[in-house]
Amino acid sequence: MGTRGREILASFGIKLDELIKLLNKAYADEWLAYYQYWLGAKVAVGVPKEAVVAELIQHAADELRHAGLVADRIIQLGGTPLLEPQAWIKETNCGYDSPKDPDVRVLLKQNIAGEQCAITQYKKIMDYTKDKDPVTYDMALRIMTDEIEHEEDLEAIEEDIKIMESRLAK
Ligand code: MG
Ligand code: FE
Ligand code: FE
Repeated sequence: MGTRGREILASFGIKLDELIKLLNKAYADEWLAYYQYWLGAKVAVGVPKEAVVAELIQHAADELRHAGLVADRIIQLGGTPLLEPQAWIKETNCGYDSPKDPDVRVLLKQNIAGEQCAITQYKKIMDYTKDKDPVTYDMALRIMTDEIEHEEDLEAIEEDIKIMESRLAK
């Protein structure tokens, strides 16, 4: 980002190194979420496999796009996106849940927890930048809007599974 852009943020009391650190944690989360979804879509088994795989593939693409948005903003702020994949594990807030049990019900549970964590993290970034850094705030809001949609998509499938299971139990 240009010199003036950074001066303005400093005048609002934004500590650039703190903000960049927060963004790099979100960046780590996005890559790990991307891989978790991408691999989950490959290994998923169970019912309804097709609906789950379609969501996982779509969400993986969204998480990768989010990683790109966050990286671009880190660079604008004068920072460097985490350079090593090893740093993703060190810096992540939301962690990585491997799809070692590929049952779609387990994958849904893991990924819903991931989305809920992501929503919380972007809320933190919004609180940190509110009335101080409208560009980062706007980015976090747009990403959070996607994460809320992701959570809802996965919970809707979970609901369908419950309905199906209760019918089968009768
Ligand atoms: Mg979706
Ligand atoms: Fe994301
Ligand atoms: Fe998401």
